[in-house]
Amino acid sequence: MDKTSSFSIHKGKPIRCKAALCRKAREALVMEEIQVDPPQAYEVRIKIICTSLCHTDVTFWKLDSGPLARFPRILGHESVGLVESVGEHVDGFKQGDVVLPVFHPNCEECKDCKSSKSNWCARYANDFISNTRRYGMASRFKDSTGEDIHHFLFVSSFSEYTVVDIAHLVKISPDIPVQKAALLSCGVSTGVGAAWKVANVEEGSTVAVFGLGAVGLAAAEGARLRGAAKIIGVDLNPDKFELGKKFGFTDFVNPTLCGEKKVSEVIKEMTGGGVDYSFECVGLPSILSEAFISTRTGSGKTVMLGMGKHAAPISLGSFDLLSGRTICGSLFGGLKSKLDIPVLVDHYLKKELNLDSFITHELKFQEINKAFELLEEGKTLRCIIWMDK
Ligand code: NAD
Ligand code: ZN
Repeated sequence: MDKTSSFSIHKGKPIRCKAALCRKAREALVMEEIQVDPPQAYEVRIKIICTSLCHTDVTFWKLDSGPLARFPRILGHESVGLVESVGEHVDGFKQGDVVLPVFHPNCEECKDCKSSKSNWCARYANDFISNTRRYGMASRFKDSTGEDIHHFLFVSSFSEYTVVDIAHLVKISPDIPVQKAALLSCGVSTGVGAAWKVANVEEGSTVAVFGLGAVGLAAAEGARLRGAAKIIGVDLNPDKFELGKKFGFTDFVNPTLCGEKKVSEVIKEMTGGGVDYSFECVGLPSILSEAFISTRTGSGKTVMLGMGKHAAPISLGSFDLLSGRTICGSLFGGLKSKLDIPVLVDHYLKKELNLDSFITHELKFQEINKAFELLEEGKTLRCIIWMDK
């Protein structure tokens, strides 16, 4: 049967479906029947085809205090879906379209969305607290007792259906296999974008990447595509080194094997004074400072991508900064989703961008907790979780 043939009967009405709920921090997600309300103006209801697990889901799953810790909640933000129905004032999306939800907004109308200088949508990007973009704490999800369920990062893809604002949605070519496209919804785009848009790595340059999960490997893939000559990977897990070779890494450093030396000293020796670019893809302040001093005095640039708990403060040596290094952070690799995702899809279709090697596991929706175990144990890059299988 056509995947969209049942869509019309639910239009304008709530849908009952399965979702994996996070009821308490660090506890296994529970499969429950929930109600997903119809989309309001500027919103689209999506049938999720597949989703994957990013470390940011794990960080928020563990978060048990502060304004960002919310329960019950539907986590998940890397996914691909089909448009089931659209609310009022929705242009450019129609039933059956293949769409990619993106956690970082792109309203296309504010001063910053119109400028090429950043991907920080001035209208929406500062808000991490609301459930829905234009409706504050209003939720489109209810559990079987009628209690509201919190959204996560405006996506909530660990549900058979979800409602997403058009500022968080990109229509993509149906030519790309959906499981490959899902990777572009967060982690891989973040890494590739950081090398391409934020660092603007140039041909022949030297690069160090700290943390070889999907984000770090994608930063290397981005640097490889830009023609970097030397790409050094730093990780505690030696299994990541073999994988790293598929993404253009030329050298590896295991911090536990550096003896008395700091990783930054080893990298300076390997590069005759430090790398041109470094990327922090773990989310630990101590690693950020090592990544920073691994760069060359006078010109080195560090990009922070890792997301720590509770936005902890970072400390850098003032002279290390005075000596001409720069540092910046970025969400979603500096990409404007509506403009840049189609470019990455195109690179994949032209066989330039390696997406295949990121998928290490595929699971059924019922097995979603296994994906958390695998990522926590460092055994997977990305698990594709199929909703219909
Ligand atoms: P991951 O768990 O797959 O990878 C993390 C890697 O870091 C692992 O290979 C692990 O072995 C390594 N690591 C852990 N501690 C280390 C240490 N002390 N030294 C060296 N390596 C160490 O995670 P991921 O999904 O690739 O995400 C990486 C980070 O990026 C997370 O903090 C995540 O929240 C963040 N993230 C940020 C954005 C953004 O927009 N900035 C987007 C997606 C993910
Ligand atoms: Zn993510």
